[in-house]
Amino acid sequence: MSRFLHEKFAALEAYTPGEQPRDRQYIKLNTNESPYPPAPEVVEALNQTDVAELRLYSDPEGKDLKEKLAWYYGCKAENVFLSNGSDDILNFAFLAFGAQGAVFPRPSYSFYPVFAQLHGVPYREVPLKEDFSLDVDKLRGTGCFTVLANPNAPTGLAVGLDAIEKIVVSNPDQVVLVDEAYVDFGGESAAELIHRYPNLLVVMTYSKSRSMAGARLGFALGDRELIEDLEKLKFSTNPYNVNRLTLKLGAAAVDAAPYFVENAKRIMATRERIGVALQGLGFTFPDSKANFLFIRREGLPGETLYRKLKERGVLIRHFSDPALADYNRVTIGTEEEMGAFLKEVRAILEEEGLV
Ligand code: PMP
Repeated sequence: MSRFLHEKFAALEAYTPGEQPRDRQYIKLNTNESPYPPAPEVVEALNQTDVAELRLYSDPEGKDLKEKLAWYYGCKAENVFLSNGSDDILNFAFLAFGAQGAVFPRPSYSFYPVFAQLHGVPYREVPLKEDFSLDVDKLRGTGCFTVLANPNAPTGLAVGLDAIEKIVVSNPDQVVLVDEAYVDFGGESAAELIHRYPNLLVVMTYSKSRSMAGARLGFALGDRELIEDLEKLKFSTNPYNVNRLTLKLGAAAVDAAPYFVENAKRIMATRERIGVALQGLGFTFPDSKANFLFIRREGLPGETLYRKLKERGVLIRHFSDPALADYNRVTIGTEEEMGAFLKEVRAILEEEGLV
């Protein structure tokens, strides 16, 4: 830290992204990316792009893409906000709506407390129940900005729209943000509820089901006035934060929606198959509605499995939070990748004398 940094950031602990090592070729099951490429229509749109156009700024309104997403989700363009990945939207939302503090479950996405600290938003974490299910009653009437991931990360567990509605209805004077990064893998989206609840903000991303993590594109759906608030902050920060290429490819991906829906189905089918195999090896995990499994094996510390798999060229995610020490989060890859993962897991269990 230099002596020039504002003292209010001295104690800030930044978010730790999943590792992206370059020392060798890994089977990468650690950051919940899609194992499949973007839709052929997206590739085609990229190939047809005239690079000379990059001399021009991107459309700060992102009008074409907003209209397409509005059409897809049954709302108006004025109900859509676009930003540089959904993390960017979370950042603006904590900045915009955290005046009275924030509440979110724990464990959940470990970026929420970082955004709260960054913006000086006091926060309270509501523990999940013993079985990792959401304590819906404790998220009702919080009296402050309320954030939840549905499905949750890193557990993969989802709640139904009835639970979301209860939370939204009970906090009429506060924004409730539902982070639906993983909703396309078996969850239920709250998008349709934005027409009834002006305090609901639904946040989605192109990073997971749409295979475009590297393009950095997230969007939020909500009441026109909520979207205007976010636009105000975006236009006070970086109006061009979604680049020209990403706007174009993002629109092409909406046209190719059946492709990503099909991919999500493939990933769900792989998840079910791998789940059965892992159970056969003595692993347990919550019922995932996401593109990952949050696994635990009696007698095998999470860190050991993580480390031994890494030595064998398979990366999974282990968390530093001591409450999660027994667990690892494993992204669902292709059938072949998951076959290789299982083979190595079996070998490690044998080595440890656990099978
Ligand atoms: N929300 C959750 C729950 C996530 O796991 C992630 C991915 N790390 C994000 C939001 C952010 O995704 P992105 O910024 O790539 O849209």
